[in-house]
Amino acid sequence: MRTTVTSLEGSRQNLFIAGRATEPQSGNYLKSYDPATGEAWYEFADAGAQDVDAAVAAARQAFADPAWRRMTQTDRGKLVRRLAELMLEHADQLAEIETRDNGKLIKEMRAQMRALPDSYTYFAGMADKLQGETIPVNKLDMINFTLREPIGVVGMITPWNSPLMLLTGTLAPCLAIGNTVVIKPSEHATASTLALMELITAAGFPPGVVNVVTGSGRTAGDALARHPGLAKIVFTGSTQTGRTIARNAADNLIPCQMELGGKSPHVVFGDVDIERTVNGVVAGVFAAAGQTCVAGSRCFVEAGIYDRFVEALVERTRKITLGHPMLETSDIGPLALLDQVSKVESYVASGLREGASVAAGGRRPQREDLAKGWYYEPTVLTGARNDMGFMRDELFGPVVGVMPFSSEDEMIALANDTRYGLASGIWTRDIDRAMRFATKVDAGTVWINTYRSAAFMSSMGGFKESGYGRRGGFDVMREFSRVKNVVLDYSGAMQDPFVIRLK
Ligand code: NDP
Repeated sequence: MRTTVTSLEGSRQNLFIAGRATEPQSGNYLKSYDPATGEAWYEFADAGAQDVDAAVAAARQAFADPAWRRMTQTDRGKLVRRLAELMLEHADQLAEIETRDNGKLIKEMRAQMRALPDSYTYFAGMADKLQGETIPVNKLDMINFTLREPIGVVGMITPWNSPLMLLTGTLAPCLAIGNTVVIKPSEHATASTLALMELITAAGFPPGVVNVVTGSGRTAGDALARHPGLAKIVFTGSTQTGRTIARNAADNLIPCQMELGGKSPHVVFGDVDIERTVNGVVAGVFAAAGQTCVAGSRCFVEAGIYDRFVEALVERTRKITLGHPMLETSDIGPLALLDQVSKVESYVASGLREGASVAAGGRRPQREDLAKGWYYEPTVLTGARNDMGFMRDELFGPVVGVMPFSSEDEMIALANDTRYGLASGIWTRDIDRAMRFATKVDAGTVWINTYRSAAFMSSMGGFKESGYGRRGGFDVMREFSRVKNVVLDYSGAMQDPFVIRLK
């Protein structure tokens, strides 16, 4: 892979259409900024509707091309497996690009990039295992069966918080099934997706199977979401944008997969080991500086241990090291966007006006070495209530609101009192209680005595305003394939159509 952080520095990156780096029709480029310094570091193509047309046309052509369409499932699986091998070889290089582009910690990105290839390998193995059924239909000399087919061109609009990881959950199965793809990464982190295209080419995918249009959401993203040449659209991002995209998809009568925001409840009962649970709550909300859709940002603690728990949580939070994302010693890096820092600041300020108190953090760090970057201190807000803005809306920053509860019924009511339904967590030694929570909570994922332990083999997705559709496991293979029913009469005789035989 030729792309490195050094080669990107000061460079101009083009679109990737039909296997080639392609200049945008407008000739316009946008700047990408390094969140650790706030400075621009490379430029990327600002695609318009015509570029999106070209990318979708390339993907449609590749879908129809026998080089892809008539490739055997096993050979498709081998290509996806080859991609996994190449990704593993270049994992550290991809990690450095991601860190520089979106400010995630290098140690976290290295671990993530070394793990991602396993996901491609898993789906590669499914390429030749997707099968239809034979259905008994009470007719002699007739076979009724189903075929599972690829659906066509899938549009993927990805966010800036974990571009390659969030892409993997749908790109890997789409390729294994035989679909073709047009990706629109976020304008705030495009580099890793473009770098991945070098590996797609090196692995041997035919041109046009995967295409990338960079640019802004309002132009390139909007043009892709409205494009009549798509068979499905996958979106990861905010609920607000998700609504717009779903409306546009409805005009084309195509299905969507929506992985939207969350405001996940994290519940702590009085029978827990406080130190271990504090670590779980801290990891659940402050990992990646809170920029994860599953962040456990509403923490409900049983009244009997509330004071002790908050004290331990505050003590642990104050020990978190904020620092440059390339440093191994940093626990939390900057937020990916300056707007995100302002958003978090304004929600914390309004939370204080609404009656919450800052127990830890609550401001930008007052440190010379971090002054230019987009940092915010990990923050614990006590006196929180579900009707406060920071408890209602997704902040996508390092802020947790804490409040006590007195009974299991109250806890369930508080946990479900949100328009979101992505994830949830409970800490208790009482398995009956944990299972009651698991069945009553309105969330697509329930973690018991752990948090954020996602696995590509298991099905993930949200309820309510967190979206719909599943990624991971075998469920996702069904999402990106279609069922065709075939009826074969081998009797050799077609009966008179107007003679009806009653039983
Ligand atoms: P958006 O939902 O606006 O962006 C997500 C993706 O959609 C980006 O690729 C964006 O492109 C694209 N996009 C934006 N507008 C349109 C449109 N009209 N049509 C098609 N595509 C579009 O999220 P933001 O980046 O503005 O972040 C806002 C909030 O969203 C965050 O604070 C967080 O709460 C939430 N979020 C949730 C994520 C999750 O994983 N669930 C991920 C990211 C954000 P571009 O960036 O180029 O404008």
